[in-house]
Amino acid sequence: MSAPEYRAYTARNFREIPQLADWPEYALKSVETVARALPFKPNSYVVDELIDWGSVPDDPIYTLTFPRRELLKPAHYRRLAAAVENGAPEPRLKELARRIQLDLNPDASHQSANVPLLRGHRVSGAQHKYRETVLFFPQAGQTCHAYCSFCFRWPQFSGLAQARFAAKESGTLADYLRIHPKVTDILVTGGDPMVMKAALLAQYLEPFLADDLPHLKSIRIGSKSLAYWPYRYLTDPDADDLLRLFEKVAATGRTLCLMAHFNHPRELSTPAVRLAIKRLQSAGVLIRTQSPVLKHINDKPELWAEMWRAQVDLNCVPYYMFVERDTGAKHFYALPLERCWQIFRQAYQRVSGLCRTVKGPVMSAAPGKVEILGVTEVQDEKVFVLRFIQGRNAEWVDRPFFALYDRSATWLNGLKPAFGEHRFFFEKELKGLLMGHVAPMG
Ligand SMILES: *Cc1c(COP(=O)(O)O)cnc(C)c1O
Ligand code: SF4
Repeated sequence: MSAPEYRAYTARNFREIPQLADWPEYALKSVETVARALPFKPNSYVVDELIDWGSVPDDPIYTLTFPRRELLKPAHYRRLAAAVENGAPEPRLKELARRIQLDLNPDASHQSANVPLLRGHRVSGAQHKYRETVLFFPQAGQTCHAYCSFCFRWPQFSGLAQARFAAKESGTLADYLRIHPKVTDILVTGGDPMVMKAALLAQYLEPFLADDLPHLKSIRIGSKSLAYWPYRYLTDPDADDLLRLFEKVAATGRTLCLMAHFNHPRELSTPAVRLAIKRLQSAGVLIRTQSPVLKHINDKPELWAEMWRAQVDLNCVPYYMFVERDTGAKHFYALPLERCWQIFRQAYQRVSGLCRTVKGPVMSAAPGKVEILGVTEVQDEKVFVLRFIQGRNAEWVDRPFFALYDRSATWLNGLKPAFGEHRFFFEKELKGLLMGHVAPMG
């Protein structure tokens, strides 16, 4: 496969994209206006091989990767566009953009909680929320293959938040793991760890491969690279080194899982992504897949069924369907919880058992990962049936609980307990856990 040139496009140079040559000035300006609040960064693969330019602006991949005015609330857009139009000075525009960003719930990631402690010191760049799995944020992996305006990472890309929890090295975390034998999984995340060069990623992974960490069975890497730059594994100068590194992990008896973000079946359709998946698999990598369910992108059961089938055909394992978090351009992408569940179940009904490894729709929220099992009636009361598939307290997991039906609720914090209860069963304990900022015991 020949190597196409990698080019990232941002507000600075996107006017050079050939497909935009005949765009009117007002349309280009509109992209720039929105980008002041919500930055973007598609690359030449996304532009040349994924986007269907005949369907722009409604093309799902275009909508995922380029700013459009609807990403901002109408009043926000009007204010910003008017300021640009009236030639407001740059500091004023910056301040306006900042105020809009602060209005988009930039603090939704809860990344500051659950920092592990080792001999009284915080292990920076790690988060230990669930007993078996520790998240790890390498500092060099804090940028991304795209800047998605629905992702809780957008404040990091817009300069609003520092990647202040990121780690310069992983030796300290490996020491922490030595005294936490219940941890079986490390999930390397970012940003996107696969923006790192193979040599740097190797430095971060090496400490986890030690012989005296036999309980660490699996290393996961969360990444959008397969969807947005599959050449990472094909033609990038260090693609082969990367595959050797993955083989080395497998040789220690551990599973290297790539948690691949795929939002739309088209991302699985190009020759490049298919070849990249094959190469990864032949290096012993297990690919699991995940995506939020998003209005304007994938809010149809057929698309999910098609996506899961395509993944299983490619020997990938469907893992999570997420509910869109309450942050960024949420008003544009959000779907009511009931709709998310309908999309999930209608898709689930259409596929064979091999696709039904997927869990969802799931809200990754402060108390844990909460799955919507459905809407039903119990004693004449219409309710959501929910369960934790991960909990800050492992005892909460897999215990069904009920919330009052609410047709427009889009997130856990919009739900109230059913049957006249004053709070959900976990709420009192959660308060204590959040105040302590402690990692789980064991
Ligand atoms: C989702 C998530 C994990 C991984 O959970 P699994 O159930 O093992 O997939 C770990 N930590 C945090 C904070 C998470 O949100
Ligand atoms: S982590 Fe995934 S969803 Fe978030 S900005 Fe990066 S590519 Fe987009």
